Amino acid sequence: MANNLTPRPFIIPIFVPNMGCPHRCVFCDQVSITGHEGGKLSRRQVRERISEFLGFKGDHRGRVEVAFYGGNFLGLQKSYRQSLLDEAQGFVEGGRVESIRFSTRPDTITREALETLAPYAVRVVEVGAQSMDDAVLSLSRRGHTAEDTKMSVRLLKNHGLRVGLQIMPGLPGDTPESILETGRRAAELEPDFARIYPTVVVKNTVLEKWYDSGQFKPLSLADAIDLTKRLYLLFKARGISVIRMGLQAVGSLLEPGAVVGGPFHPAFGHLVHSEIFLDLAVQELEMQETLSKRIALKVHPHDVPKLRGLRNHNIKQLIQRFHLKAIQVLPDPALPENALRVAGLPQPGFAIRKIKCYGLSKL
Ligand code: SF4
Repeated sequence: MANNLTPRPFIIPIFVPNMGCPHRCVFCDQVSITGHEGGKLSRRQVRERISEFLGFKGDHRGRVEVAFYGGNFLGLQKSYRQSLLDEAQGFVEGGRVESIRFSTRPDTITREALETLAPYAVRVVEVGAQSMDDAVLSLSRRGHTAEDTKMSVRLLKNHGLRVGLQIMPGLPGDTPESILETGRRAAELEPDFARIYPTVVVKNTVLEKWYDSGQFKPLSLADAIDLTKRLYLLFKARGISVIRMGLQAVGSLLEPGAVVGGPFHPAFGHLVHSEIFLDLAVQELEMQETLSKRIALKVHPHDVPKLRGLRNHNIKQLIQRFHLKAIQVLPDPALPENALRVAGLPQPGFAIRKIKCYGLSKL
């Protein structure tokens, strides 16, 4: 059943901020991150939220999933957890929702906990791995090890569940090497998908104090983009889709002072994709023996903004680097996505080059 799932479901998020957490990890304040107040949701509130979201779902949207996010779902008191699941399951049985998913800590994923899910249409579990380096996990006061993550993924797969892994490059103690090693070790677990959230310093967290005292230095935006790009390509090379890069720019995170440091950008994922297209264009243009001063780059219409970059950053970079006079960006629906064609060269014929994924050995 899991393999029949389409990649882009219509997700109805129900937030349980920091609920079920055994303690607070140094970087975390889910009220700021999710934009939702904490406190126990009643069954009625869950029902109302699901009904409200179903009202937004257009006819063109496909499969509907209810998702419990922002806390440690399997750490919730069993009776409360089941009351939330009962409510979601009611919509499944009514035919309006297809399945349920949630996020949870690796150390709460046990055989016993998974057996309690049997009556419910839970199909996907997102595991907060954050790092596969035990020293980094310890410094971040996660309270679990990389081995816990490995075991949890195995258990979930044995239960026939789809698995998502969340990782956070740039945690305390991280280096570019440990970040890429986390990517390799996470990819070896063969999750169905991954989310990459470079660490930002959120107000009212331990990390904020460490940042203020100089004890913690976050990644720069440029380094976070570069490392996330490498992780993205690493996962892609293993056939693992990356469904999110960078924290979602929700209302409370955008409030002045909510993020006090680190590589937060409302369009972080776009910046990573643009960097990948910049690399692709550079690679392609460097291979040309001669270049006319005016060239055209053709990409699939969906990829035009990625090739241009934010405020045409990539085009300006390419013009400068290759001493060009102008670059025309032409959308070409005949091209596949993630491909680039250079036109306007003196040689007959065009070059087509698809995005290459870095092999693990090249990282
Ligand atoms: S990171 Fe996860 S486990 Fe840690 S405090 Fe936040 S929600 Fe809880």
